[in-house]
Amino acid sequence: MVTTTPSVSLLHKTKQRWKLVVVFVLFVIPGLILVLLLFVPWNVFEKKRIAIQLLLTGTGVVGLTVFLATLRCPRCRRSLGRWALTNSSGVFRLLALQRCPYCGFEEAGNK
Ligand SMILES: [Zn+2]
Repeated sequence: MVTTTPSVSLLHKTKQRWKLVVVFVLFVIPGLILVLLLFVPWNVFEKKRIAIQLLLTGTGVVGLTVFLATLRCPRCRRSLGRWALTNSSGVFRLLALQRCPYCGFEEAGNK
């Protein structure tokens, strides 16, 4: 009986998927809230609105920094986050990436 092992992404094998969760919480969610704020009348939050927008923007910058600075190839140490942002549909390709796009590193993990 032949069993096929499902392909596992590089981020999974190198135990870096949790960083994507951090990026989602720090970047994607604040970004969505900022967009939703565009549809809220200006007088709803009044003076607190600018503080809320600055807080969300700052959180987003931290999330983007985490994405660019911490998602790295274990061998060549180049940023996989930067690769994802500079390639078309790179963020989605990053999730399925089997090996490092720079050096070809492929962790020999099993699940
Ligand atoms: Zn590499």
